[in-house]
Amino acid sequence: MASIAVCPGSFDPVTLGHLDIIKRGSKVFDKVIVAVLNNRSKQPLFTVEERIELLRETTRDIPNVEVDNFNGLLIDYVKEKNASAIIKGLRAVSDFEYELQMASINRKLDENVETFFMMTNNKYSYLSSSIVKEIAKYDAPVGDLVPDVVEEALKKKYIK
Ligand code: ADP
Repeated sequence: MASIAVCPGSFDPVTLGHLDIIKRGSKVFDKVIVAVLNNRSKQPLFTVEERIELLRETTRDIPNVEVDNFNGLLIDYVKEKNASAIIKGLRAVSDFEYELQMASINRKLDENVETFFMMTNNKYSYLSSSIVKEIAKYDAPVGDLVPDVVEEALKKKYIK
């Protein structure tokens, strides 16, 4: 049976840190489904469609990566996709507590779905979508933090 993993997140927008986790995950699993969380309670900068489009463009060269979105409980989505794993990236101790809670609750909901954590690439340990947005808002360069298409998309969002 093919091993399928779901890599969930807001990806508002996708950064080089996300792409590093997605690429590494794609070497371990037969298929990685990058799933954009359609979270109405957050105020995103990019719409779900825009976030999906940016992810598709930037993962186009990885054949076993698919991009999708989901609503509701992650564990239900994972089962619907016949996936057996969730991939998450860990940047710092501050990520750990929340992720431990999520992984524990997901195991309680379905013990057959395993959460795998990958340590951030040291180059990207400080990197988050929020930091990128904060920098781009003030028109400072983000070329080292996100792919070119994302840099362009950010510029368009912040044109006054
Ligand atoms: P954020 O908005 O904080 O960037 P997301 O919800 O989009 O986060 O993140 C999706 C997943 O990617 C999470 O598992 C998160 O820990 C991981 N991730 C985000 N940025 C990085 C990074 N720089 N290095 C490793 N993992 C990361």
